Amino acid sequence: MTAPGRGRPPIFDDAAQDEFLRLVASGVRVGEAADKLGISRRTPTQLATRNPGFAPRLAAAKAAGRDHRVPHGTAGGYNNHRCRCRRCTAAATAARSKHRAESVGHDGPDRTAHIHPLPIPQPHTATTKFAVLADVG
Ligand SMILES: [Zn+2]
Repeated sequence: MTAPGRGRPPIFDDAAQDEFLRLVASGVRVGEAADKLGISRRTPTQLATRNPGFAPRLAAAKAAGRDHRVPHGTAGGYNNHRCRCRRCTAAATAARSKHRAESVGHDGPDRTAHIHPLPIPQPHTATTKFAVLADVG
């Protein structure tokens, strides 16, 4: 610990840390929360590596914040945010089932297409390559 009055005064003190973690847990991204408090975006991460007590608090706040940003109960929550909660899983299953049901009619060859007859090529009657070349066109 440095003597009082010496060194750079801490701007990310306990009160600022609590406010930062509160913002992050409410869904504000780490960089935006740092901007809001006027600290470097790297400061919280650096503190987490130096201070073993801060690291789990930051991890918990980030997890809670991530959870706030996920649109639960939507296929996007499952597919884009990789949320596997029951509501997101159910929504993604329903969306997938609907998509598959709609695409069933499109599987396999199109049997309704018109077939245009092509002329069947006749074998060459020529016997040498020069005769073949002369025969074409
Ligand atoms: Zn979810």
